[in-house]
Amino acid sequence: MKSFSYTPATDVPSALEAARTEGATFLAGGTNLVDLMKLGVATPDVLVDINRLPLRDVTELPGGGLRIGAGVRNSDLAAHPLVRRAYPVLSQALLAGASGQLRNMATTGGNLVQRTRCRYFMDMTKPCNKHTPGSGCPAREGDHRNLAVLGASEHCVATHPSDMAVALAALDATVRVAGPDGERDVPVTELHRLPGDTPQDDTVLRPGELITAVDLPPLEFARVSAYRKARDRASYAFAVGAVAAAVHAEDGVVVDVRLAFGAVAHKPWRAYAAEEALRGRPATREEFLAAADAELSAAVPLRDNAYKVPLIRNLVSATLARLTGAHQ
Ligand SMILES: Cc1cc2nc3c(=O)[nH]c(=O)nc-3n(C[C@H](O)[C@H](O)[C@H](O)COP(=O)(O)OP(=O)(O)OC[C@H]3O[C@@H](n4cnc5c(N)ncnc54)[C@H](O)[C@@H]3O)c2cc1C
Ligand code: SF4
Repeated sequence: MKSFSYTPATDVPSALEAARTEGATFLAGGTNLVDLMKLGVATPDVLVDINRLPLRDVTELPGGGLRIGAGVRNSDLAAHPLVRRAYPVLSQALLAGASGQLRNMATTGGNLVQRTRCRYFMDMTKPCNKHTPGSGCPAREGDHRNLAVLGASEHCVATHPSDMAVALAALDATVRVAGPDGERDVPVTELHRLPGDTPQDDTVLRPGELITAVDLPPLEFARVSAYRKARDRASYAFAVGAVAAAVHAEDGVVVDVRLAFGAVAHKPWRAYAAEEALRGRPATREEFLAAADAELSAAVPLRDNAYKVPLIRNLVSATLARLTGAHQ
């Protein structure tokens, strides 16, 4: 492993100051970054440890909603009574991720910024436009069974691996960021990029910017929400397809709905077309499938991942049917 220096920060200003150094990277739980350092994929010169920052609280916002500190551990967030009651989709998504030990270390900020699990990306002996821009994308012709069917480019077909981020996308969360140029808010749906011709950039974060918190807006019907994840084994595995859903149905009609898909794109995929297709429609399985089709008509599967399209379609239908009690 390449040598690096280590700087523990105790508050946000000192973390931002330390991050001005060339080659500096924030260290949160380390569950992704340290693995990538061991593999030679991440090669920071300076690790700015942000674990001592006062960013570990979940607080209620004055107008409703919650503020989640970037340092809140995934297990603490999943177990938080306000999250479980008002945003069960988020709690379920967190609990569907990784293992108990990893969730005890993983943080809200780190989970959002974790990197793809594309096998070529994690192997510095292979070409990959994400770790070595311009070297090519072997996944297109090689192993892409768990890679993107939506929003990919000829330069990269990677997927974002986070479960939590999919729930946050469905909930219209906002990411609060502090950096050398001050503070700004980024909708979580705009935090992650599509790969285009610069797949090396996962997010719109600028150099030295620190995620300080994630805000959840009030959404009364998020109490009726769920996260459903398909994976190759029952636990401790990344998603091959996932759906986060919240729905408000009255008298058998969908009044409002939020839908996001996971493991299908370079970012958590907010399913706006499916939502639009469902509002005002009967809460039936037939309508749920038609709404999924409205979103998935944009899918461009590769040789070995076309299964994701019917998988997501069925997850949408099953999740919404359970939430609304629809039987046909
Ligand atoms: C075996 C295994 C299985 C897993 N399974 C799943 C799974 O099923 N689902 C899932 O969602 N995840 C899964 N994960 C991923 C895990 O959830 C992430 O590794 C974890 O959430 C990362 O959080 P962290 O705090 O450890 O981040 P770190 O590893 O410390 O950091 C990750 C990245 O985020 C940056 N960063 C951290 N905090 C901030 C911040 N506040 N502002 C800006 N940048 C920041 C770091 O610089 C680094 O680039 C798995 C991981 C492993 C090892
Ligand atoms: S899909 Fe993206 S991360 Fe994977 S090999 Fe291609 S460029 Fe690299």
